[in-house]
Amino acid sequence: MATPSENSSPDADLGNSLPSLDSQISHADQISYWSSQSADVNGMLGGYPQLSRIDLQGSKNFIAKVRRISRVSSSSPTNTSSSKQDTTSAHGSRSTSGRAPATPIRDANNSKIRLAVDCGAGIGRITSGLLLYVAETVDIVEPVTKFTDVLGQLQTSPDQGRVGEIFNCGLESWSPSAEKSYDLIWIQWCLGHLADKQAVEFLKRAARALAGYDVQNEVEGEAQGWIMVKENLSTDAWGEDIFDDVDSSVTRSDQKFKHLFEEAGLKIVKMEAQSGFPKDLYPVKMYALRPK
Ligand code: SAH
Repeated sequence: MATPSENSSPDADLGNSLPSLDSQISHADQISYWSSQSADVNGMLGGYPQLSRIDLQGSKNFIAKVRRISRVSSSSPTNTSSSKQDTTSAHGSRSTSGRAPATPIRDANNSKIRLAVDCGAGIGRITSGLLLYVAETVDIVEPVTKFTDVLGQLQTSPDQGRVGEIFNCGLESWSPSAEKSYDLIWIQWCLGHLADKQAVEFLKRAARALAGYDVQNEVEGEAQGWIMVKENLSTDAWGEDIFDDVDSSVTRSDQKFKHLFEEAGLKIVKMEAQSGFPKDLYPVKMYALRPK
């Protein structure tokens, strides 16, 4: 499953013996599965609505830590070429790609970033519970219109940003226009709906849509945007991915994610396990990524 789900898959061994696990992915099956789910938090979280609060809190803490890294490195001009996992540098932003320079992920006033996008957003659980507090505007990518219809009725509070453009398509066919430059691209519980190759291509496109992409490290203090991925991890004893034919998704191993990020030209600048979920669910991990 692409959402929190039980850590047991009787078919895992069967799936593993197949040459290409994710060749079984069918976007038509995904859409038909998700269209049959209720357009509420229970539907989004596969029957575990109580996990939403813990999940959002974990994500909020993670974003705060990543912002802190950005702040520390942007106030440290000597720290410009680190590739260490938890101490990435803030890259300068003289854009050579025509994209807008990045908004620093955190400034002295802890103000909002400019533009985020919620990928595979469903009804906007993460958008309304987290991203609209972090960003002035949040775009949405979600193939099921029944879910995005809910976003049209979203009531926001004065301290929240606004929902921007809504793209009703799967991530495999989402190609951000050249005018878009995102400070944060949030991808949660939906990357398993893409085959490996599609995931790599999507991550490459996402990287190109980041604010400050392809910049020279000439201007201190401005960070590039971030891609953040939060997904279930496979617990297969042999470290294999697990296919779930209920929602036509693949649950990948930590090793596989790292491989896909590498293929997409991304480096991990911070990663963290989500704590506080029941032990019988798949472990969940967060990765903050940037182009190398
Ligand atoms: N990320 C949201 C929703 C998770 S449920 C949250 O955490 O609350 C998984 C979502 O992925 C569903 O909304 C489903 O419609 C969407 N989805 C299904 N196939 C997809 C695809 N190919 N690309 C992007 N999203 C997809």
